[in-house]
Amino acid sequence: MTENKETIIERAEGAVLHTYNRYPLVLEKGEGVYLYDTDGKKYLDFAAGIAVQALGYHYPGYDEALKAQIDKLSHTSNLFYNVPAMEAAEKLVKASGMSKVFFTNSGTEAIEGALKTARKYAWQKDRGEDHEIIAMNHSFHGRSMGALSVTGNEAYQAPFRPLVGGIRFAGYNDLDSVRALITDKTCGIILETIQGEGGIYPADKEFLKGVKDLCEEHDILLILDEIQCGMGRTGHMFAWQEYGIKPDVMTCAKALGCGVPVGAFVLGEKAAGASLVPGDHGTTYGGNPFACAAVSTVFDLYEKNKIVDHVRAVSAYLEQKLDALAEKYDFIKERRGKGLIQGLEVQGRPVGEIVVKSQEMGLLVITAGNNVLRLVPPLVIENRHVDEMIEKLERAF
Ligand SMILES: *Cc1c(COP(=O)(O)O)cnc(C)c1O
Repeated sequence: MTENKETIIERAEGAVLHTYNRYPLVLEKGEGVYLYDTDGKKYLDFAAGIAVQALGYHYPGYDEALKAQIDKLSHTSNLFYNVPAMEAAEKLVKASGMSKVFFTNSGTEAIEGALKTARKYAWQKDRGEDHEIIAMNHSFHGRSMGALSVTGNEAYQAPFRPLVGGIRFAGYNDLDSVRALITDKTCGIILETIQGEGGIYPADKEFLKGVKDLCEEHDILLILDEIQCGMGRTGHMFAWQEYGIKPDVMTCAKALGCGVPVGAFVLGEKAAGASLVPGDHGTTYGGNPFACAAVSTVFDLYEKNKIVDHVRAVSAYLEQKLDALAEKYDFIKERRGKGLIQGLEVQGRPVGEIVVKSQEMGLLVITAGNNVLRLVPPLVIENRHVDEMIEKLERAF
């Protein structure tokens, strides 16, 4: 028998380090695009475990493939080859039109690998040990020392200084501010194609193209963080694919494994050919057969069920409904986002209150930045789930 909610929360707080102010919900199981807590209450899930559960819960074909892989082999180390890693890497290469993949266990680790790739690429050219990386204000790339060093958030950084050196911060969507920071030591420019945690800000076309041109001109690696906005969420497999540019390095995680912890950094030809070699980088778990079976299955299911096309169709409906909300309620300042990564900027009332009220109404939504209501549902939602979300959200308002 399951213990009651209060006891579970008390025991969890007794043993788990308190680094999150968690909502007082104990989630027990999922089905489709719904979650159930230990009291049996049902929630429509527009958070998807922070943009992870792109296929929702128990999507046909997903569990079966993972169970089959567990029955065969779940881990071997990177000292040997395995079939799922080979297949997953090929599928990631094909979907991105890039060249080589390194699998990691998380988004943060993918960022670490991307930063090391840029440093090594430049070191190879001049043996310099003072190469610089340009990152963006209000960015989020993770919590490890390297990823935190390129995360433009003072509150996150302050207690942990000194951080990795040689990082400069520019304004997102402000090309001049990027240009002004470029020196002959710059080896990489890192940005999210759509800033997620910072408040759902998509890159402007001219900005991203301009950054790409600067990178070409100065032989700098362009690193695009697609951890949150990638894997079909914008209606393109990778958000940069609608900009007419290609990164030198891309980071993936979150929906890459749809619930299994896995990330990757993917290198274009230039970066793959002149950066990391044996001895430069490694991981014990990264790319293990179990995690890679998940990645491989995710790509198969996306293709078979035309998930990215579906995102385009359903997100058109979602945008229309959200725009109507923004029109109707004065406290919604604007809607931002693409596809199924959407934010409603709220003014004059605490967004956290809306999140809690939504939970009472049976809807899970999350926040981004200080005042943005973030909607990152499973990509398999249908129009009727959009209607249900709007109905519950309006009751929460
Ligand atoms: C979540 C996220 C990360 C960090 O990924 P983890 O798996 O939590 O380490 C990095 N970049 C972006 C854009 C993210 O949304």
